[in-house]
Amino acid sequence: MITIVNQLRELSYNLYWSYNNDFFEIFEEINKDIWKWSQKNPVKFLASINNEYLLDVIEKKNLREKIYNIYRDFRKYLNEEKTYFNEKYYKATTPQFCYLSAEYGITKCLKFYSGGLGTLSGDHLKSASDLGLPLIGIGLAYSHGYLRQYINNENRQAELYEVHDFNFLPMILVLDEEYKPLKISISLPGREVFAQIWELSIGRVKLYLLDTFVDENDVEDKRITDILYGGDNEKRIQQEILLGIGGMKLLDRLGFNIKAFHINEGHSAFLCLERIKNAMKKFNLKFDEAKTLCYFSNIFTTHTPVPAGIDVFPKFLMEKYFKRFAEEECEISFDRLFEEGDLNRNGQNNNHFNMAYLAINNSQFVNGVSKLHSEIARKMWSLPPTRSQIVSITNGVHFKTYLAKASEKLFIKRFGKYWYKDENIWNRINEIPDEEIWQARVRNRKELIYYVRERISDKLKLAKASEERLAEVENLLDENALTIGFARRFATYKRGTLLFNNIDRLKQIISNPNYKIQFIFSGKAHPKDEGGKNLIAEIVSYSYDPIFKNKLIFIENYDIDVAKQLVSGCDLWLNNPRRPLEASGTSGMKVVANFGLNFSILDGWWIEGYNEINGWKIDSPEEENLPDYEVDKYEAESLYNTLEKDIIPLFYKRDERNIPIEWIQKIRNSVLTLAPYFNTERMVKEYNEKFYMRVK
Ligand SMILES: *Cc1c(COP(=O)(O)O)cnc(C)c1O
Repeated sequence: MITIVNQLRELSYNLYWSYNNDFFEIFEEINKDIWKWSQKNPVKFLASINNEYLLDVIEKKNLREKIYNIYRDFRKYLNEEKTYFNEKYYKATTPQFCYLSAEYGITKCLKFYSGGLGTLSGDHLKSASDLGLPLIGIGLAYSHGYLRQYINNENRQAELYEVHDFNFLPMILVLDEEYKPLKISISLPGREVFAQIWELSIGRVKLYLLDTFVDENDVEDKRITDILYGGDNEKRIQQEILLGIGGMKLLDRLGFNIKAFHINEGHSAFLCLERIKNAMKKFNLKFDEAKTLCYFSNIFTTHTPVPAGIDVFPKFLMEKYFKRFAEEECEISFDRLFEEGDLNRNGQNNNHFNMAYLAINNSQFVNGVSKLHSEIARKMWSLPPTRSQIVSITNGVHFKTYLAKASEKLFIKRFGKYWYKDENIWNRINEIPDEEIWQARVRNRKELIYYVRERISDKLKLAKASEERLAEVENLLDENALTIGFARRFATYKRGTLLFNNIDRLKQIISNPNYKIQFIFSGKAHPKDEGGKNLIAEIVSYSYDPIFKNKLIFIENYDIDVAKQLVSGCDLWLNNPRRPLEASGTSGMKVVANFGLNFSILDGWWIEGYNEINGWKIDSPEEENLPDYEVDKYEAESLYNTLEKDIIPLFYKRDERNIPIEWIQKIRNSVLTLAPYFNTERMVKEYNEKFYMRVK
């Protein structure tokens, strides 16, 4: 009897569940309210109900077999011998590759991410697990995570920070040989700062997160890992020292002999310095000799051409934190160390230390995250011809994480329970009849609308809203209208309000009674980004304008769970960044397997993915150097035209069964041409074959 509870507990501690819908379903069936209250956290869920109740519900609702099947599949997955890596290379018994990132977006209850960089890191680990790569991840365990957004009375974003109780999350404190918490320490000016380590299991892959909230540290140092991207420059440098240098110390402490180090964005690049220091000691080398040695096993992925997205530290701060390190540990002058943060070491950095440059100067392999972005990066940072150049590995997404129930059920029905193991599955989309694709599409849209209604009514109930107001929410949005989504971080270059560029034009388009359309927006701005917050306020204000009533919704507190609902529920996914600032973008990839279509500026991944029949593009002016407002006007005009003339009529062009055959043809084209490529399985294989396995 009790074994089934133990199996559930075991499952709850492996984030395998975060990419398996049937697991979510079980908890929802056991008790939907507690599941919601736990923020979809099975560890907390199981801790809050007693075994008798649990067993009782399992019996009453006949869940025994379902749980057993998930458990059996999970064990099979963990013990699988025939993985991509094992088959192609060798069976590794210890970790060989280390991935370092400041953020990881894995599932709703682990708020260690702010946006696409984090979800990409999470997806990287999930696919590494699927493929059997001997890879581990390193990051920070933020006690207060990233901001929780709410919209205040002035329609503006305001922030709350929730405290994580790590003891009730799917993570386990790492213990040392004496069963005490294992700790590493880093030297900061005048003191040692300690960190304990949390281990997360993502299928076969382990992720280690460093946490400074330990007794040895004073109050300020305890707070080094409180908030992701919080605080000032000094806080940031402390976090990054912990991530890069502390991360390296942890690898040594755990005794891992890592072959390749993947620095995912510049935040973890101090790792390079710690590695050099270690190599100097171990092989009795000079700084530059050790640097050359380590260079061959570092890999750097750059994620943005936007300067504000790249960390730079002023010289005085670097001096405060690295002077002793340079002189005593590396036996070089501080100025020599400081040069590492300068590209080509030519003193053009204005007394700033650039983390991307540190990484570039110390990595054999450097890549951008789409073809276009890599080109831009090559122009931004011209490297000497004597070294390896910036290549491109286009981002992807881990489809199973973002797949809605209805889409997945259809794949199971047509292709069997293990449909996802077939690499060529997407080529079989034409085996699925139109009506079944359409049914899944409609189902996904409805689920999204129910989800939106529930979120809004939950909030109103908390605010003790009137019965009338609550009743209104029951009819919020139209289950049959063309539903368009826009959700991502509200960085200003993503132009969250381009849709409203010509408000009269937009009003005209949305007021056609035969062609109903509705928009759902979501996204957080960084707390210090007033520009981004202004955009949110503008959209929220429009959503209260009578003309947009029931046609425009802003969902508060965008997170990975809202993202999953949106990318699976929307018919059309809008993305309109200012070219060429969107390095890749990944949310548009997430819609593909859910039978959504993309409508985007030809930037980032979309210029690579778009082919005229698998979605739509927004045209950009040919003339260069136009002022921003001219570009916005031009692109908005293209957006309106395409929406009005092509997209909306196609969606409403129905056959006698009320099915939009030509729209579905676009969906087929989208799945056929995009799904096989824009996924992290392909991406991680590329990293493995082009970089990890080429490190000697
Ligand atoms: C996928 C995802 C993103 C990335 O969205 P882009 O459109 O690529 O910027 C950001 N946040 C969350 C929560 C996501 O799931």
